[in-house]
Amino acid sequence: MIIGGRPPRPFHRTARECRVMIAPDRGCYQPGCTNSTNMSAVIREADGSTTYTRYCAAHSAAIYDAYVKATQGTLFPPSADVPMEECEFQCVASFHEQDRRFLLLSSMRSKRFFLASLTGHQAENATLAAQYGSGDARLTHQMLLQLVEKLGATCREAAIYGFELHRGRYKCRLVVTRGEEPIEVECEVSDAVATALTAKVPLRVSEAFLFKPPGVR
Ligand SMILES: [Zn+2]
Repeated sequence: MIIGGRPPRPFHRTARECRVMIAPDRGCYQPGCTNSTNMSAVIREADGSTTYTRYCAAHSAAIYDAYVKATQGTLFPPSADVPMEECEFQCVASFHEQDRRFLLLSSMRSKRFFLASLTGHQAENATLAAQYGSGDARLTHQMLLQLVEKLGATCREAAIYGFELHRGRYKCRLVVTRGEEPIEVECEVSDAVATALTAKVPLRVSEAFLFKPPGVR
């Protein structure tokens, strides 16, 4: 958490602390703060569980500055033919005032992050997958995985491997195998994350898209 100038973990609250701190007025989760909220997020805890949290404009500004501003205006190479790093879900955050939603992943090997802007629909998908990925919620990616399985195939990995400059969006794919036959399907970044979380397969991201927030060594 960067609040108070202390990087690097994006959101430090544990699930138990959050439950304790849920105020009747649905205010900011920062202890002692009574402001109304500007940002809500679903975050992954160290044990793999997810927690819902929210902060006011003042207490989410540091998060916005460190993770979102840090990557704004970054232009990626159109084709990233560089090594991939396996990443894990960190959070989906919605900044209400700015009407912007973001996905944050962290590299399992280096102290680097991946950040992508999401539409409302994509944020909802990724959030649901993080919260109910392997449960019986009948989400679209769960249906997709059932279909893959019933066709005798297996989902192997999801990858964020490129960037389309003219569309301003990431190129992502799901890799499925049927016997020896590899099958690749293009998808949106939220689908890649939702499917990886649900199928519990590696989620790999091109090194070209990973960044270190300011203050993280
Ligand atoms: Zn606050």
